[in-house]
Amino acid sequence: MPLEEYAAKRRFEKTPEPPPEQQRSKSAANFFCVQRHDATRLHYDFRLEIDGVLKSWAVPKGPSLDPGVKHLAAHVEDHPIEYGGFEGNIPAGNYGAGSVMLWDRGTFDLLGELPAAARIAKGDLKFRLHGEKLNGDFALVHMRSRGKGNEWLLIKKRDPFAVEGWDVEEHAWSVLSGRTQEEIAQNLPARKAKRKTAGASDRVWESSRPAARGAKAAGAAAAPSAAPPSAAPAKKKRSSRSKG
Ligand code: MN
Repeated sequence: MPLEEYAAKRRFEKTPEPPPEQQRSKSAANFFCVQRHDATRLHYDFRLEIDGVLKSWAVPKGPSLDPGVKHLAAHVEDHPIEYGGFEGNIPAGNYGAGSVMLWDRGTFDLLGELPAAARIAKGDLKFRLHGEKLNGDFALVHMRSRGKGNEWLLIKKRDPFAVEGWDVEEHAWSVLSGRTQEEIAQNLPARKAKRKTAGASDRVWESSRPAARGAKAAGAAAAPSAAPPSAAPAKKKRSSRSKG
């Protein structure tokens, strides 16, 4: 799937996503990334740098470090290498409209002998990730007999990085900005310190705006606040996500 499909789906004067470069990347860095994409349906986009593009799979339930789960991964169009640095908001009315979080990034090693393109053609891609959240050996396996022909499974192999019961939603913070999905959706600035507890219930708003301090001191006579409701402690469920 060439970058023409990527370009055809997007109007680059309307979306902050990067256009394809004329020159393909010459980097041999084996970059990988995962983006958490709050589009019509929340999903994770898993991307591996192969042959100068980001080979991409949309994973509705996200990646997991639990070797006991096999999550569906829909093979989608190649993305340009520059997409690996993208975090922000795709405006309403555009393809994939919604907020995009750079959820993980790092490098990977292919496992085995065949080149990556041949492995993808065979429907059996094994690799070792060196990310900030994802580490260890994984496989992407094509299910030829299912669905539209683009359905693969993303599977964690048993190794020292495997974690039984690992929950992707407990790690819902950006490796680029430290922000939650909601903070990205609201175009709030990057956090000073990356937090590893973005999805945790103890996480509170760290804005310096008066409303945030008011919220922390909440309980008794809360001061009149001119701030929007979004400045309340970030304990919301994922019900407020925008439609794509
Ligand atoms: Mn997506």
